[in-house]
Amino acid sequence: MAIKIDKKITGYNVVKPEDKVAAPTVAAAAPKEAPTAEVIQMHESVERPETLVGSTFKIKSPLFEHALYVTINDIVLNAGTKYEQRRPFEIFINSKNMDHFQWIVALTRILSAVFRKGGDVTFIVEELKAVFDPRGGYFKAGGIYMPSIVAEIGAVIEQHMKNIGLIHDPEMDEATRKLIAEKRAAYEALGAKKNSEMSASAAPADAASADTLTFPAGSMMCDKCNTKALVLMDNCQTCLNCGYSKCG
Ligand SMILES: [Zn+2]
Repeated sequence: MAIKIDKKITGYNVVKPEDKVAAPTVAAAAPKEAPTAEVIQMHESVERPETLVGSTFKIKSPLFEHALYVTINDIVLNAGTKYEQRRPFEIFINSKNMDHFQWIVALTRILSAVFRKGGDVTFIVEELKAVFDPRGGYFKAGGIYMPSIVAEIGAVIEQHMKNIGLIHDPEMDEATRKLIAEKRAAYEALGAKKNSEMSASAAPADAASADTLTFPAGSMMCDKCNTKALVLMDNCQTCLNCGYSKCG
């Protein structure tokens, strides 16, 4: 780096190796101080950087002939500081299916506008997930009920917000978790006894689905968490997903 000297040089010092070592520590300390002066929050006039990072989710629904591709791009505010925050900035939805084009464009524009307004934007997840299709919803893999395609877009946004740390899963207390594990083990032991009398053909399917979140075949719908995970044990319905039980 060139430094222009306007005054007369009246003296000089030679830079010693130990000075060079000392210098970077001063430089490193300086940026730590700087961000405390101004923490950038999301608001309408935050300009879109040239490049944004994001994720694309694929939605395959029996209500739609073609898959939907949902892209959510994020802005990183206060990068490199302790105030660093990643927030959704814009959303795009693409599909070969043009039947719903105008609604999808309108929805994505409004969602993007909400993202850029700032403040708490997580409320839109619940708003979208509560949309019911009068023609009926459908089940996702794992037995999760989707009341509409809009609700699934909401679920995708929720997943994305969880991925970037904007939404945190509610802490399930240790007792509930243990209870679910115990109930599940008991139910599976019960099922294994029955299955062994019939055939072993179900075994490979069980092994394949072990890594994805699935619940026993024939589970009923839980009204509390909208998942097919309700099983009947000792004349009592228990949800193996959220722990809900009719018998308390
Ligand atoms: Zn449940």
